[in-house]
Amino acid sequence: MNYDIIVVGGGPAGMTAAIYAGRAGWKTLLIDPMGGGGQPSMADMIYNYPGFPNGIGGPELMDLMARQAKAFGVKIEYEEVIRITQEAQDSGASGEAGLKVSTGDAEYTARAVVYAAGTLPRKLGVSGEEKYLAKGISFCATCDGALFRDKVVAVVGGGDSALSEAVFLTQFAKEVLLIHRRDEYRAGAANVKLVDQNPKIKQLKSTVVESVRGDEVLTGISVRDLRTGEVRDLEVQGLFLYVGWMPNVEPVRHLVETDEYGYVLTNEDMSTKTPGLFVAGDVRRKPLRQITTAVGDGAVAVWSAEKYLLERG
Ligand SMILES: Cc1cc2nc3c(=O)[nH]c(=O)nc-3n(C[C@H](O)[C@H](O)[C@H](O)COP(=O)(O)OP(=O)(O)OC[C@H]3O[C@@H](n4cnc5c(N)ncnc54)[C@H](O)[C@@H]3O)c2cc1C
Repeated sequence: MNYDIIVVGGGPAGMTAAIYAGRAGWKTLLIDPMGGGGQPSMADMIYNYPGFPNGIGGPELMDLMARQAKAFGVKIEYEEVIRITQEAQDSGASGEAGLKVSTGDAEYTARAVVYAAGTLPRKLGVSGEEKYLAKGISFCATCDGALFRDKVVAVVGGGDSALSEAVFLTQFAKEVLLIHRRDEYRAGAANVKLVDQNPKIKQLKSTVVESVRGDEVLTGISVRDLRTGEVRDLEVQGLFLYVGWMPNVEPVRHLVETDEYGYVLTNEDMSTKTPGLFVAGDVRRKPLRQITTAVGDGAVAVWSAEKYLLERG
């Protein structure tokens, strides 16, 4: 099936790109394994996206974006893109190279692609971790927090996501252990204050998780205090990881330049070294990864894609 513009990824960057493309009348397809949602669907509340003075639930915000895209005629496919390749001939009048977008089940072609596949959460890389993924280990407090009512859970990380999700988990858990390898958090002052004020959160700074254990499900972790070297076994039923992100770059790695961490290097207009391929959102190298900046990237990427298409007739 041929499209003018295919958007890969239905987070804030991809949804914005799709909304702009659909509204401008381009035949637009958005592909996402979940149909969209991205990282905000893992966030209980978003307080810094303009227009919502009392905050808005992450899933609700993304549902509104998806509804807006569909209202402008965007087709959404629930698939994962495996690879994007350059086609010898495009479907446009100029006959220039187009792009082929392959999923496990289907192949689509487009004259321009906005790639906005975001990032994946990093794991700890400690013994036992793989065995207990989804059996006590989670990357999403909003999705799984309610499973741990009256249990002890640990949250690993020191950024805003870790601290805000630790606070969120106190709604369910009887105790939340907040484990951070440094002495200072990277999170902003507002979240640090919320953590400091919450009696259910026990802070373990300068501490790392060394291993994870359990039977059928997770039952505990071993932690090392980096100041004293002391190793302790702690009983926890849930372990929530917020230790960083990896860009979802594989489908386009051969078509773009990346930095040493794999983030895509784009020009200011989101173009890449591949004609017709534009990259937006957290997957690209940028100084601030937030919903507002992802939305901005998505709009710029489609503006550039439209310019590219119009120039080629
Ligand atoms: C828990 C949490 C809380 C946060 N809170 C805030 C906040 O309060 N305020 C704020 O501004 N930001 C917040 N953020 C950060 C913000 O959500 C991200 O910066 C933003 O979502 C990035 O948008 P994106 O569209 O670039 O990528 P993402 O949101 O990561 O979306 C990428 C999408 O691409 C899809 N995808 C991945 N690979 C493929 C593939 N191969 N084929 C097809 N689709 C694919 C994924 O399924 C996903 O839907 C939070 C993040 C988290 C995890």
